[in-house]
Amino acid sequence: MARSSSSRALKRNIALILLAVVVGVQIFTMCKKKNDTGNSPQEQSQGGSTGNSGTANKYNTRHLEMGAPSGGDGAPTFLLIRQQYALQYNGTKNVPDWVSSNLHAEDFGDVERKQGQFMPDPDLPPQFYRVKHQDYSNTGFDRGHMVRSEERTATRADNDATFYTTNLLPQLHSLNAGPWLRLEEFCQFLANRRKKELYIICGGIFDKNYPTIGKRSNIAVPKACYKIIVVLERGQGARDVNENTPVIAAIMPNIEGLKDQQWRQFQTTVDDIEQQTGIDFLTAIPENIQKAIESRKTQSLSMR
Ligand code: MN
Ligand code: MN
Repeated sequence: MARSSSSRALKRNIALILLAVVVGVQIFTMCKKKNDTGNSPQEQSQGGSTGNSGTANKYNTRHLEMGAPSGGDGAPTFLLIRQQYALQYNGTKNVPDWVSSNLHAEDFGDVERKQGQFMPDPDLPPQFYRVKHQDYSNTGFDRGHMVRSEERTATRADNDATFYTTNLLPQLHSLNAGPWLRLEEFCQFLANRRKKELYIICGGIFDKNYPTIGKRSNIAVPKACYKIIVVLERGQGARDVNENTPVIAAIMPNIEGLKDQQWRQFQTTVDDIEQQTGIDFLTAIPENIQKAIESRKTQSLSMR
């Protein structure tokens, strides 16, 4: 009697352990799938080997390490944070006010550029118009990536995320394939070859009565595009920024005839960009240091 009941208890215990293992494996698989998709909004940044020392910002993403830029034109906006970048979307202009991204060597890989069309962004709330690939067709403007496709080539999901239309501004080919591309190539050189830690913020500058493109909704065309690049050593973050930190700032006009121009001639100060956009950048940096690095042009970096 005693023997048979203890053997029943043993069988029941084994059954419970097996059940627990099966459930455990399923939960693990579900978590893993969730992490693998990696492009839902508000998702947390990666840690581990690609994590920086200074990702203690309140957004908990490496892409807002320099602080979320603040201000704008008063239009309804949406803060969209995904694993690959963060941006503030402007619901009136139907373009981002700014796109902010951290860039380092591990972001470059072997993944091929996404084939086919740009995708409407499924993570925009329903009250925002979701720009379509076709809205840019036959307008004379390129679909100008803010976070460059080549800068997100570690995984398929990373590269695909640069092809959401929320990551675009209308750029003339002259700008997109001219000095804008050359500055992007310089960023690649610094991050991938020089192993620097870059914090990049870019977007458009608009006339009061800006022209528009688009079929169902108006997409604002910028008169110029700006780019800010904070250059740190690998692994460094906001707490490492000081008065001597190199900061590249540029404003490039969205006009014809730029194809052979160098990016350096468009260098300016962050102060200039802040004044022309009405946006405060590098908000995570203490005021006195912001003052120093936003008012000067960095000359010390060379291509060698
Ligand atoms: Mn481009
Ligand atoms: Mn500032």
